[in-house]
Amino acid sequence: MVAPMLETDLGEGVDEQEMYLRNLTKTLLLVGQSRRQSVLGGSRPVCQTKMTAHLTADVLKRVSDAYQSLSLEGKVKAVATLGDLMVEEVKAKGSSSSSSPSVKRLLLSLPLQETDAQRLISCLPRLHQLGAACRDDGVVLAVDAEWTYTNPAINLMTLALMHIFNRGEAGEIVRPVIWNTYQGYLKAAVENLQEDLAVASLLGSDVSFGAKLVRGAYMERERAWAAEQGHPDPVNDTYEDTCTVYNRMVRVMLEEVARAGAAAKLQGTASSRAVMVATHNEESVVRAAELVGRLGLDPQGGDVVFAQVYGMAENISVPLAAAGFLVYKSVPVGTVGEVLPYLSRRAAENRAVMRGARRERQLLAKELAARVTRRG
Ligand SMILES: Cc1cc2nc3c(=O)[nH]c(=O)nc-3n(C[C@H](O)[C@H](O)[C@H](O)COP(=O)(O)OP(=O)(O)OC[C@H]3O[C@@H](n4cnc5c(N)ncnc54)[C@H](O)[C@@H]3O)c2cc1C
Repeated sequence: MVAPMLETDLGEGVDEQEMYLRNLTKTLLLVGQSRRQSVLGGSRPVCQTKMTAHLTADVLKRVSDAYQSLSLEGKVKAVATLGDLMVEEVKAKGSSSSSSPSVKRLLLSLPLQETDAQRLISCLPRLHQLGAACRDDGVVLAVDAEWTYTNPAINLMTLALMHIFNRGEAGEIVRPVIWNTYQGYLKAAVENLQEDLAVASLLGSDVSFGAKLVRGAYMERERAWAAEQGHPDPVNDTYEDTCTVYNRMVRVMLEEVARAGAAAKLQGTASSRAVMVATHNEESVVRAAELVGRLGLDPQGGDVVFAQVYGMAENISVPLAAAGFLVYKSVPVGTVGEVLPYLSRRAAENRAVMRGARRERQLLAKELAARVTRRG
């Protein structure tokens, strides 16, 4: 699983087509490499991507405000319109101008300024190219969750990609190519997940859905931003609350996978739901693994997978794999400058993570001592 370290924050993104083309080229290269170098047998490589590598955080924020103002039906219409425009823009070779029919159509379903609608439309051919490469190469595209002020737009764009790439050509069900990410540290996490599941279902019974479940990496920034804006804190009050919400999201998705798997068996089709339990938390992993067993899910089928960051939580990845589960390691890829914001987030992660790291060190020391004793 590769994670290109390409992202921007508010005020950082120069709306420069050349930079986005460079980001696309780098990501496409990784998609190709993950296919060629995959050692996963029947399972699929995964490429992560951040929407702020494809559109500025400032535009994403305004698109988020517009998308959030819509009812569920309005959201379904906006997603379907954006997906349809994605296909049409590829055919038109992205030549839409600010007053083009595409912009007018988008504005009918999403209350945006014309210039923002035009910018959103201008990134559609690039997103289409990425989605098509993943579909053609058998690679999963996992879109990362970012900040609460950009996430609704990320959901909109990712669902639009699902509308195009998570369905077969003749309406047959295919395994999800595009997966979205949900952050358990948010008070609204379960509702966010359930809303997107509802949007995907309303787009069509043949639209499949994949979810990567994480606790969330921007806690301090989220809290500071909410305080600055005078908004209520979107993050759970305690670490324990985040764990409860995270485990609830895992249950929601595992039950979805079980339901979709049963339907697929009956109809002789592919299964339309998949989940990645992306965490270093031992308790969440054990709970998820137990539920996989209780629901009778196939740990090798690829519809339920686990993931940790490369170089972290080997004490979780190794026993999981040994127990027969599919485990991915997310490998950050980029220049030093690109990787630094990511590394600083990992370093700034709270005491709970440090507790995990301490436990990992203790386990490593124990294993080392056992090996030395065995040799002696
Ligand atoms: C494969 C993979 C992909 C990832 N992709 C993303 C992504 O797309 N977007 C993203 O945001 N993150 C992503 N992450 C990072 C993830 O969100 C977490 O930051 C990281 O995994 C630590 O959480 P944990 O569940 O592993 O472990 P734990 O150590 O059990 O949990 C730490 C987490 O708990 C939460 N937390 C800690 N203290 C408190 C508190 N006082 N109150 C409320 N909550 C608290 C925070 O989210 C913190 O990061 C990814 C992680 C992995 C392994």
